[in-house]
Amino acid sequence: MTIASEALVRLHRIHRQLGDLRGRLARGPKQVAAGAGNLAEFEAEQAKIKEVRTKTKILADEKQLHLRQREIRLEDLQAKLNSCGSNREYQMLTEQIAADRQATSVLADEILELLERLDVLDAEVAQAEQHVAASRESLAALQEKVAAEAALIEADITRLAADLKEAEKALTGDVRVEYNRLARTRGEDSLAEVDDQVCVGCFQTITPQMYNELKLQKAVFCKSCGRLLYLPEGS
Ligand SMILES: [Zn+2]
Repeated sequence: MTIASEALVRLHRIHRQLGDLRGRLARGPKQVAAGAGNLAEFEAEQAKIKEVRTKTKILADEKQLHLRQREIRLEDLQAKLNSCGSNREYQMLTEQIAADRQATSVLADEILELLERLDVLDAEVAQAEQHVAASRESLAALQEKVAAEAALIEADITRLAADLKEAEKALTGDVRVEYNRLARTRGEDSLAEVDDQVCVGCFQTITPQMYNELKLQKAVFCKSCGRLLYLPEGS
């Protein structure tokens, strides 16, 4: 049998287009997975900062409660001081009040620091929420875009698969069997052009006999890489 090199050129072109389309089809879900990964990171960051904020708030509340207890105790001590009967007791109470005031002042400073920290954390929580919302929005837009593209690509694949079937009719007999075996696993790598007596698939030089057979439009497989060879159009 003879095979016009135009038929093989066309067959290879369809394989390449199909390979390209399948590659594009596979990229979509990978982009979506990457977007979902980004969103998960932002959500984890948000959860972390919220937890820190909650713990800081609990600590501030505890310290404020503690501060109120200390203030009540100071009032008690002050009342005792005002009604105390002896110098010794007066002296003890005065020292106690001074020590308590010192401790209360330290506690009040700690509370102030915690409240300032809470203001910063509130801003960080708001920012983390914005990141999550923006990431969620862009993921939804990406999913929509990928789905729309996939529908177009799948339609092109269906059309090209029909073209491929038609183009494959140029191959019959043993050549068809061998080609089918190659095409199943290698797709566009089942064919290669011969440029200046070199297989473009593996860059090995073909024999003069192979070249002559190609010129006679016979089916020739590369001895090195196994691809079905063809001469460029117009050669
Ligand atoms: Zn080769």
